[in-house]
Amino acid sequence: MKPDQLLRPMPAGLYCPAGDFYIDPVRPVARALITHGHSDHARAGHGAVLATRETLDIMGIRYGEDFCGSMQAADFGERIDLNGVTVSFHPAGHVLGSAQIAVEKDGLRIVASGDYKRGADPTCTAYEPVPCDVFITEATFGLPVFHHPEPKAEMGKLLTSLRQFPERSHLVGAYSLGKSQRVIRLLRDCGYDAPIYIHGSLARLCDYYVSRGIDLGDLRPATLEKGDPTDFRGAVIVGPPSAFADRWARRFNEPLIAFASGWMMVRQRAKQGGVELPLVISDHCDWPEVTETIRELAPSEVWVTHGREEALVRWCELAGVPARPLHLVGYEDEGD
Ligand SMILES: [Zn+2]
Repeated sequence: MKPDQLLRPMPAGLYCPAGDFYIDPVRPVARALITHGHSDHARAGHGAVLATRETLDIMGIRYGEDFCGSMQAADFGERIDLNGVTVSFHPAGHVLGSAQIAVEKDGLRIVASGDYKRGADPTCTAYEPVPCDVFITEATFGLPVFHHPEPKAEMGKLLTSLRQFPERSHLVGAYSLGKSQRVIRLLRDCGYDAPIYIHGSLARLCDYYVSRGIDLGDLRPATLEKGDPTDFRGAVIVGPPSAFADRWARRFNEPLIAFASGWMMVRQRAKQGGVELPLVISDHCDWPEVTETIRELAPSEVWVTHGREEALVRWCELAGVPARPLHLVGYEDEGD
């Protein structure tokens, strides 16, 4: 069997004709396998959905319990038969519940890694390499210029700023699923044990992380209605970046805007967003991680999805690994 008989790019997403299912489809389909809960990968309105327990729970929190016709939870490593095709889910290290999906038939195995990273992250299960014939990789930061620094060192910048500007409310922009919980956990691991205030849109997902055993410490709602802005003097407030462009943010005491994202390596992006304190913290592989992963797995072929496909395809070719871009559309990761 040729690889593109087992899995092929279609307008709705990666499709397996033999198993009759899609992986992370961008439009409603009869059967969807979902790698993780970010909104560009996990959409509402499918018939049957197969995903990890955490991803299903996260979809329920974001879209309501009736987000699909029927659902099935897959444990990591469990082998599930779909019309003669074997599928299994393996940790991707991206956000809580995130998985790579292995698809196998007649001795051929393709691994669709979804979004993944190799760096340590105490808020989710670490990436596990899965040997395969074809490795499908994202290339969000697929340019040699992208090297993500040590996350704790980035957190150190925030702690330094808190000491330098004890009057100012430090508003940390972080996407609601994954990044915000990781930022909070990182602060705790750096010894910050004061209350952390969260925007209302993060509350349910933070509660869910806590219910899955991820200790986030003392979290309180960042509501100004009752008190006055000086209540938040010198406090850390975490919220989605969109909220910081809003009047909500300006009501805090001398707000200092930080933003935790892999894109903060690009000075221009930080400037445009009015970010005073860029924190380069990413839930995706940087260039060394993605290229080391391909070397480690040594697949006979690499398919590159969303991101900077051409540079990584070229790197693979120079390394002697046949590669092609998939040109899938609709994946603009909300959790970069
Ligand atoms: Zn993602």
